[in-house]
Amino acid sequence: MHLINHPSPNFGPRPDGAEIDILVLHYTGMRTGQAALDRLCDPQSMVSCHYLVEEDGRVFKLVDEDMRAWHAGRGIWQGCEDVNSRSIGIEIVNPGHEFGYRPFPDIQTSAVINLCRDILSRRAIPSDRIIAHSDMAPDRKEDPGELFPWAQLAQHGIGLWPARQDTPHGAGNIADIDAMLIRLGYGPAQSDKNRVAFQRHWRPSNIDGKADQACADILAGLLAARDQ
Ligand SMILES: [Zn+2]
Repeated sequence: MHLINHPSPNFGPRPDGAEIDILVLHYTGMRTGQAALDRLCDPQSMVSCHYLVEEDGRVFKLVDEDMRAWHAGRGIWQGCEDVNSRSIGIEIVNPGHEFGYRPFPDIQTSAVINLCRDILSRRAIPSDRIIAHSDMAPDRKEDPGELFPWAQLAQHGIGLWPARQDTPHGAGNIADIDAMLIRLGYGPAQSDKNRVAFQRHWRPSNIDGKADQACADILAGLLAARDQ
């Protein structure tokens, strides 16, 4: 695939023997893609990512995948607390909730899908380790948010999604939601934040943070799809 080289100085070595088996998707949350690109390449900012996908579908390569980029920060997924060391980070241009959150254009989504498929063709990244930034840091992050087309990515084999036949009504128990979220990968603290992050990713039509039957069923379906 066509990549535009735009190197960032903000990276370091991965620890010896670190597996690369997590993929974190972000939105940039800045007014323009150019502003985000500048910040991700500014040595003062101490932030970076491996790839940035513009709204017009251009894909910039900032940090080599073998190197540790600085995109994830504090958080946890499936017990891993140093997500940067094990992950590839993709920043997707969108002003975000702060500056005018808007739908991701189709051409941008297609570019994200192509990029993810390219990465997954080269790397063994399990589907339940393809996550939103908000999944690993639900107490402080909202990106890439409820408008991000996760279902469309799943149609292309990217990320965990329940098979419809696996999620009949009543498949999950509402009382088990918080425990199921932890089984999926969320951290043990702040159940309400976990529920909101889960809804942004897997049930974006209603992000109220409440435990309901639909969430329980989706979660049961996700765990069944993963553990089958
Ligand atoms: Zn982020």
